[in-house]
Amino acid sequence: MNDNPYAWIEESLATIHRADWYRSVQTINSLPGAEVLLSGQEVINFASNDYLGLAADERLQKAAITAIQQFGTGSTGSRLLSGHRELHRDLEQEIASTKQTQDAVVFSSGYLANIGAITALVGKRDLILSDQYNHSSLKNGAILSGATILEYPHNSNEVLIEKLHQQRQNHRRCLLITDSVFSMDGDLCPLPELLDIAEEFNCMLLLDEAHATGVMGKTGAGCVEHFGCTGRELIQIGTLSKALGSLGGYVAGSNTLIDFLRNRAPSWIYTTALSPADTAAALAAIKIVQQEPQRREQLWRNINYLKQLISDNLPNLNLNILPSESPILCFQLSDAATALKAGKHLKEAGIFAPAIRPPTVPTSRIRITMMATHKKQHIEKLVEVLQGLIKAC
Ligand code: PMP
Repeated sequence: MNDNPYAWIEESLATIHRADWYRSVQTINSLPGAEVLLSGQEVINFASNDYLGLAADERLQKAAITAIQQFGTGSTGSRLLSGHRELHRDLEQEIASTKQTQDAVVFSSGYLANIGAITALVGKRDLILSDQYNHSSLKNGAILSGATILEYPHNSNEVLIEKLHQQRQNHRRCLLITDSVFSMDGDLCPLPELLDIAEEFNCMLLLDEAHATGVMGKTGAGCVEHFGCTGRELIQIGTLSKALGSLGGYVAGSNTLIDFLRNRAPSWIYTTALSPADTAAALAAIKIVQQEPQRREQLWRNINYLKQLISDNLPNLNLNILPSESPILCFQLSDAATALKAGKHLKEAGIFAPAIRPPTVPTSRIRITMMATHKKQHIEKLVEVLQGLIKAC
């Protein structure tokens, strides 16, 4: 037995390389924005989740600096021990007010919010129904909970209902989990129908609004608002790290739900509280989202301009654009190698829009994310480069 127990890691890494699935980081050496310095090269940025352009906003910076000066850099403990600050409660109340729920609780990331909520709400005797394209944090939360997991094909209410008919009565509690804006596709879940199905089969519904908060709905409250479902009972999860330009996650819902999570969600109880700087920046952002609807309006003008330019300039070309109703727009490509080549071509032409490959997604693609801070010329340049890309691929 003199085998090296770690040797398999190198072999596994070699397999990842062979499949063109190897991932590495790229360095941005500038403030976040529509134009960034990527590994020393000036590029137009279509790879950011900073949908409203708040991550570099001076008001967020100032709020973070003031919070550091008042409360220090670290929160020094978990919320239930020494980590709780008034700032956390202020932010939670602001989130609840935006979402029109009774209460909210902030986590140290959106990933931890999903894991914490799912593991607190269901266990071994329960059932989870999960959309096939759900984010990793929902999927891993489901696995960690120990519940029986049934995946249904993307947005297929028919199969969901069929599975509920077959399995619901064999389980104590049932939780439906879904992204509202699908992060790697850009389409939306059929929320009103899902809420009806949840009601009919006596299930809870957990909705991940990570890419919808600040973006969807008249006031930016998310897909719940977009679909006119405000006030219906469900569990709303989200992140502070995308349109809100900070870091952290949250769950919003009834007083009872939030109180329960504060007592039962392990990724909230046993982790250090969100830092004062992140909390203060998110609090400043959420107020700006309420006070400056023009940011969201500009984002949607940009999305519509891009769609218009694509349909005017790239008609009948072999560009497989996935259906999108959000700032996320994807071009599906035949395989990982082609997606990598496309990403490289775009970067050489000054466009940062990354290739997304398995295992993150089932099929390789270029993913474009729009921001309120893109100018017309940025969008025009993107379409011009895409024209060249189609010929090159
Ligand atoms: N849910 C979805 C749909 C996401 O896209 C992400 C982030 N990629 C998360 C949750 C996790 O959020 P965070 O980055 O705050 O951990």
